[in-house]
Amino acid sequence: MEHNCRFYCYRKTREPNSHKTNKTGKIELVAFDMDGVLTDIISSWKYIHDYYNTSNERSINDYLKGKIDDMEFIRRDAILWVENGKPVTKDKLAEILSDVPLMKGAENCIATIKNNGIKTAIVSAGLDVLADKVGTELGVDYVYSNGVETDENGHLNGVGILGVKLMYKDEVIISLSEKTNIPLERIAAVGNSCYDIPMFEVSGLGIAFNPSDICTREAADIVVEGNDVSKILQALKNYVN
Ligand SMILES: [Mg+2]
Repeated sequence: MEHNCRFYCYRKTREPNSHKTNKTGKIELVAFDMDGVLTDIISSWKYIHDYYNTSNERSINDYLKGKIDDMEFIRRDAILWVENGKPVTKDKLAEILSDVPLMKGAENCIATIKNNGIKTAIVSAGLDVLADKVGTELGVDYVYSNGVETDENGHLNGVGILGVKLMYKDEVIISLSEKTNIPLERIAAVGNSCYDIPMFEVSGLGIAFNPSDICTREAADIVVEGNDVSKILQALKNYVN
């Protein structure tokens, strides 16, 4: 399989995680990437850009090369969304994102995991407007994502609320582990793109769901093909109880 990556490889900007977590026999928490895993879209940021016919491709490349940080990346995205000469409101973002479909099998997947006494989390570099909604709908225990601040009139002011650095999702897994007292060995991470590889590196089990590139496929312990995320339950069965 060819790489065919559209964007600069962030692996040239950050090193792989030096901490390699031992593989496990039992899972107590499953952390999910959101876009492409629990929702059937490529990116919640891109979903808004598509609505306004804007593009953040240049700032993606600057970010991946380490020329700008996450806050500047969010700022450059947010200032592109304008309606009637004014920055959009958060309510408008919620309205645009309201028709984002869940991935097939998402409800069943989360419900079954919870019924087995296992905690769940969303670790998304996507928008909190969508992550919080999906987290509530599915009953996810912990939700980490990124937000945008608004001014007193509810309009985006260009300032980001940084919860998840796109290139550093491993940091969120480590803080989740500390917060929940669940060892890294007992955390499984589910993701579909290369930005989920740092989660795989620090988690006891890495599951690539319908991976979009060869690097993600190769970095995972298990690969689940297709567009039904409840198929990961079969793979998780060996790591429950
Ligand atoms: Mg994704």
